[in-house]
Amino acid sequence: MSERSITNISILGAGAMGSLFGGLLAESGQRVTLLDVNDAHLAAIRERGLRLVTDSGDRRVHGLTACRPEQASGQADLLLVFTKTLHTEQALASVARHLGGHTQVLSLQNGLGNAEAVCRHVAPEQVLIGMTTWPADLHGPGHVESHGSGVVRAYSADGVERPACAEVAALLDAAGLRCTVDADVWAAIWEKVAFNAALNSLCAVTGCAVGQLAAVPQGPELARAVVQEVLAVARDEGIAVDDQHCLASVADAIAHHRTHKPSMLQDVLAGRPTEIGSINGEVAARARRAGIAVPRTEMLLGLLRLMEARAREEEPSV
Ligand code: NAD
Repeated sequence: MSERSITNISILGAGAMGSLFGGLLAESGQRVTLLDVNDAHLAAIRERGLRLVTDSGDRRVHGLTACRPEQASGQADLLLVFTKTLHTEQALASVARHLGGHTQVLSLQNGLGNAEAVCRHVAPEQVLIGMTTWPADLHGPGHVESHGSGVVRAYSADGVERPACAEVAALLDAAGLRCTVDADVWAAIWEKVAFNAALNSLCAVTGCAVGQLAAVPQGPELARAVVQEVLAVARDEGIAVDDQHCLASVADAIAHHRTHKPSMLQDVLAGRPTEIGSINGEVAARARRAGIAVPRTEMLLGLLRLMEARAREEEPSV
């Protein structure tokens, strides 16, 4: 691995999260390129800068380069992957020339299988993996909002401690993203997968906002049961997950995020494909290989797949 330091940062998938991270990194003095396929969003950023609304204020971030992935110039020192997981493969293939032997690639996407996806494009020692609790929403071309706060936890995907991980974490931290280097990152990733496998898919199937799951006892009961199924698979893979912490997070979300519509529900409502494959789908596949029964996770996966298929069929033909 090269010792050169990070000066060129690219964000692959500059939607809600990619724009938030890219905007904050640029504000902290980094040279940032946003790579996306949403031409209206790219044009708005090029013309007026990125409108970034956080608890620190409503401002425009200038100086960002914004272009299509295949137009990225030179090679990135750090590439942050922030597409939805179903677009990762295609997105990484489109930036092949932008990835050098020294490029660190960090995925903070939700779900499982992200490290494996990145490893198909760069050497395993170039891959960093993590999770983030920062929230973000895109409010139209060139306009992203994020309220409240969050953290980032990251580590080398292969579990070998390297200086590059500390350097990347320091850059994110300096941008106010509260990033720590965390050798236990897989526990955090799996606990978030359990949270999402329960709440995102239940809300997407029922149309309920998170708080509405409390309307009948079966809502929270189902959510808890899915969390326990997912964490059983994690433990089988040797991950030291914390059931009580995860169950408490789910209960807290149901109690306090009353009107929040998870992104999977928003995708269903907009007729878009969802990240169900990398969340419930990955858990179900690993459970099958391990001989562990995850009937509720499988059921939610099947229902979401049906809803996606119906949305495809109803898509107006152009
Ligand atoms: P998003 O849909 O807002 O952004 C994804 C972006 O990827 C879009 O702008 C899209 O145009 C772009 N894209 C699609 N195909 C592409 C391609 N081939 N090349 C380049 N760009 C491409 O999604 P998001 O909410 O920012 O989420 C990104 C990831 O972060 C997901 O895995 C999500 O689960 C995770 N995440 C989201 C949040 C949140 O609050 N939004 C929080 C934590 C984690």
